[in-house]
Amino acid sequence: MIIVMSARATPEDVRHVVGRIEELGLKAHLSKGVERTIIGVIGDERLLKKEQFSLLPLVEDVIPILKPYKLASREFKRENTVVDVAGVKIGDGRLTVIAGPCSVESEEQILTTARIVRNAGADLLRGGAYKPRTSPYAFQGLGEEGLRLLALAREETGLGIVTEVMESSEVDLVARYADLLQVGARNMHNTKLLRALSGVGKPVLLKRNFSATLNEFLMSAEYLLSGGNTGVVLCERGIRTFVEYTRNTLDLNLVPAVKLLSHLPIIVDPSHGTGRHDLVLPMSRAAVAAGADGLMIEVHPHPADAFSDGEQSLTPDMFAQLMHEVKAVERAITAPAGA
Ligand code: PEP
Ligand code: MN
Repeated sequence: MIIVMSARATPEDVRHVVGRIEELGLKAHLSKGVERTIIGVIGDERLLKKEQFSLLPLVEDVIPILKPYKLASREFKRENTVVDVAGVKIGDGRLTVIAGPCSVESEEQILTTARIVRNAGADLLRGGAYKPRTSPYAFQGLGEEGLRLLALAREETGLGIVTEVMESSEVDLVARYADLLQVGARNMHNTKLLRALSGVGKPVLLKRNFSATLNEFLMSAEYLLSGGNTGVVLCERGIRTFVEYTRNTLDLNLVPAVKLLSHLPIIVDPSHGTGRHDLVLPMSRAAVAAGADGLMIEVHPHPADAFSDGEQSLTPDMFAQLMHEVKAVERAITAPAGA
């Protein structure tokens, strides 16, 4: 439930309410708005009784959150959350572009790609060192060596690093190198990994599982938030449907739906969402027009030679064109009326 404090409440009044919540064995999550403080109360639902709190001094209202996700809900926090990733602010109203290869393959490949995407205007560099592959015979990633190469690319280009972590036992290792830790679609339901990431002290990019409902997606975010990690960025990357001409069906409905129901930023990955390099640019434009806070795009200097996902990777020229066009869409949708 949510406790709305009066605009006249002092920090002492808020502390008093929090003390009462903790006495009852419940957890308090503070959200300080411009006008007033809102306290999210989380815990055993049998202990959540409105009257326990509504009579406390300077409590203005006590509202039950009916959705199964609480801290992720717009009811809990009205203002949009902005996630700071190495100085890049995701969700601040400006489009964030994360770009790079599917997998880190070599020093030369990652450094070349990092320079290309930075020069075209990308904000962050992506690259997988630990790869969740469908086939056990496919390239599984360079592991820690890949992380080291990503750190080298950051040093050289100044771009923050986004990379996937697959195992809870590897969270500390990946967190030493990454600025934004990616949870892949296959691991969205891995609650042990989510719990390990909730205390990691770095933001998390949570990709939607290909069969997850919006409720399930936000419940996974809730695991991160309830464990104390407020830096959660959602990512729509396509779902499994009956169509076979694309790898997945990019569910752009999800973008405005998340904006209604949650305060968390959401980005779109049209590379995995389509699986086809020739569809990535138009679907990127559509994602920005739908209100996405950012894009994640696979780029490779020579897609034909890529160790993974070459068929959906953009060439440097295609990526430069994409940046040009998505910026134009961004300007068009943020222009004041009549401009
Ligand atoms: C990726 O981003 O490289 C990736 C494996 O994505 P997903 O988990 O969405 O398949
Ligand atoms: Mn990929």
